[in-house]
Amino acid sequence: MNGDQQLIPDPTFVSGPTQVHLADRLAVAIGLDAGDLLIKRDDLIELGGGGNKARKLQITMGEALRSGAGAVLTTGAPQSNHARLTAAAAARVGLRCVLVLQEEAPPKPLGNVLLDQLFGAHIVWSGDASAEAVADDLQTGGSLGSVSRIPFGGSNAASAKAYIDAAGELRNQVPDVRHVVVAIGSGGTMAGLVSGLGAEVVLGVDCGAVPDGRATVAGLIAAMGHGDQYPAESLRVDRSQIGAGYEHLTDGTRAALTLAAEREGLLLDPTYTGRACSGLVDAVARGDIRPGERTVFLHTGGLPGLFGHPAFAGSDAEPPV
Ligand SMILES: *Cc1c(COP(=O)(O)O)cnc(C)c1O
Repeated sequence: MNGDQQLIPDPTFVSGPTQVHLADRLAVAIGLDAGDLLIKRDDLIELGGGGNKARKLQITMGEALRSGAGAVLTTGAPQSNHARLTAAAAARVGLRCVLVLQEEAPPKPLGNVLLDQLFGAHIVWSGDASAEAVADDLQTGGSLGSVSRIPFGGSNAASAKAYIDAAGELRNQVPDVRHVVVAIGSGGTMAGLVSGLGAEVVLGVDCGAVPDGRATVAGLIAAMGHGDQYPAESLRVDRSQIGAGYEHLTDGTRAALTLAAEREGLLLDPTYTGRACSGLVDAVARGDIRPGERTVFLHTGGLPGLFGHPAFAGSDAEPPV
């Protein structure tokens, strides 16, 4: 690394605080009072279709630029929003992007895969092998030149700090926030929010992207230096929304996704935000979130996944669950 590279700042993909608005019709429909429920719109971040990964990528792309790499490499599920936003971020800063996606190439590129291609990413399908193993081979093989590896879901201790900043932003916008409901994938978003707002404020809804969402989030919090304050057992995690697994649509998710659309004109995705909304519905039903308690639903994006999910899109669509 030379002196010039050290001066390269993190790129800006999020130009200011994301919007927060009331969702009174949804609040009342799920048993809260009007005024209780707010939606924070990280889905409207202006990079590549939006979503929470853009905040983390400001940090990881900054590292990539300072390392002098010519390309970035990351891994994910076929409909990874992180992969899509990594491709968009790479296009924005002028780096090549290689995505190693699990499974075989789909017969038609739908949803996020279509967008990955539009952003000019080079996609490698891992087939039966793990995407991480294929990515390791590609990286050590050297054929890509100098590459900067971006972790699964874009989450590490450095990038999760983006959500400490977002927590401060949220606290300014909603000073009396009592609950923040958020989906857990690779864990960085919840880890940052807990570090910024406290474990008692954040309800994470595990979407099944990692074997144990609680352990993953706790590991990131510890790596950020807040493990003594917020040990694993202090975290509020709902594991009941995973259902048959990450890529399967649950009944609760379909119902929540439909409710948000019908009551608010608000679009959720079948993998993350739909599950998180189902977790919110259940939390109110069991009295974990009560009327009169100011609640923020963090909309983390993911809409392209709706158009790539077999329960909703594609000629060989499974019958809806
Ligand atoms: C990745 C993702 C999440 C989860 O964020 P993590 O920081 O990976 O836990 C939530 N919602 C959407 C739409 C995502 O793409």
